[in-house]
Amino acid sequence: MPFTANRQFKAAPRLLGSAKGMYYTTVDGDRVLDGTAGLWCVNAGHGRAEIAEAVGRQVSTLDFAPTFQMGHPLAFEFAERLAAISPGGPEAKLDRIFFTNSGSEAVDTALKIALAYQRAIGQGSRTRLIGRERGYHGVGFGGLSVGGMVNNRRVFPTLNGTDHLRHTHDPARNSFCEGQPEHGAELADDLERLVQLHGAETIAAVIVEPVAGSTGVLLPPKGYLERLRAIASKHGIVLIFDEVISGFGRLGAPFATDYFGVVPDIVTTAKGVTNGVVPMGAVFASRAIHDAMMTGPENVIELFHGYTYSGHPLACAAGIATLDIYEKEGLLTRGAELAEGWRNVWLALKGSRHVADIRTIGLVVGVELASRPDAPGARGYEAFVECLKRGLLIRASGDILALSPPLIVETGQIEEMARIFSSVIDDLA
Ligand code: PLP
Repeated sequence: MPFTANRQFKAAPRLLGSAKGMYYTTVDGDRVLDGTAGLWCVNAGHGRAEIAEAVGRQVSTLDFAPTFQMGHPLAFEFAERLAAISPGGPEAKLDRIFFTNSGSEAVDTALKIALAYQRAIGQGSRTRLIGRERGYHGVGFGGLSVGGMVNNRRVFPTLNGTDHLRHTHDPARNSFCEGQPEHGAELADDLERLVQLHGAETIAAVIVEPVAGSTGVLLPPKGYLERLRAIASKHGIVLIFDEVISGFGRLGAPFATDYFGVVPDIVTTAKGVTNGVVPMGAVFASRAIHDAMMTGPENVIELFHGYTYSGHPLACAAGIATLDIYEKEGLLTRGAELAEGWRNVWLALKGSRHVADIRTIGLVVGVELASRPDAPGARGYEAFVECLKRGLLIRASGDILALSPPLIVETGQIEEMARIFSSVIDDLA
């Protein structure tokens, strides 16, 4: 099982049987309020009939079509629809789309696009990839190598020629802050340090999550992303935002790129792109990158890369139906309306037993518990198990607990989440 202690799980399995709206039902018939949109992906809520119908229709119309040297109209239609809402709006021109099947594949694709682009513009010496400590970019060898989670890296060899910015989390200066931390913009200068160390002519790309999700909801300090953008531009380094979590309305804007008003060169997405219903990822690249790669002989494949299931018809059908819902129900910006109430509910837990920090942005919260010195992570796991028993799904990453509900969540359900969560924290050993 992925990211699971298999034997521990099999001794006491937790099995979900069905889902509708904001709720899962376990195989034992218990209702569970979905505090995590599945795994940060079911942004329009569960069991959406429109998506089910679109996928069902597609299975009997065109179940699969190769996209190597071939195509099918739905993939182009979906790409056009995504281009129309692309990160940063029309001026950003981040509207050239490549389809993958997951976030990990989107990340590896983005890194490869950056490398291929650098070569296309005569900068083939730029092969170094820069990530950031406490970054999570999936589990491919590319994402793993630029990622900064020690447990993901320690067992596996990583790519040569990668390096990492320092992470931006500084609890001594920024704790229990409302929104972006005030301090830490200067940490972006770490990219300058790496340029000094390696030489700009060796660096192809830098990738960061605008808000680090899986490593504990770490918000960028005010001014940090702007500064990173400026340094990357100054040195000809491709800036990639990994928006696998923050894309599709999570922060109350369509993308984190829109929320922060900082435009990278490439954006990776997945999860919410199909409401989690069919696996898919989508990489948005700038027109400048795309166009620079279209200058060689016309019979030569410009990006030697792709997946059997790139642009899968069922994923495209699910994705188009998902965008219809997002647009009809205003879900890509609904988080902005709920954000203040969301923030207040969670910050009210300040001072609760074990709570060391609370970080919120959009419809995300990370509640950091003080770790048990003898067993780091044990308290987080206990809280996760106990919340589930009391009818709330949360996500534990060590001792940091994250909630990120479907964007259809109602205020009463937010209060219900906080009530269950708070009772569990109070009762923790
Ligand atoms: N990038 C980020 C920022 C993620 O949060 C994740 C997954 O949570 C991934 C990449 C990997 O996505 P996947 O699990 O679909 O491969």
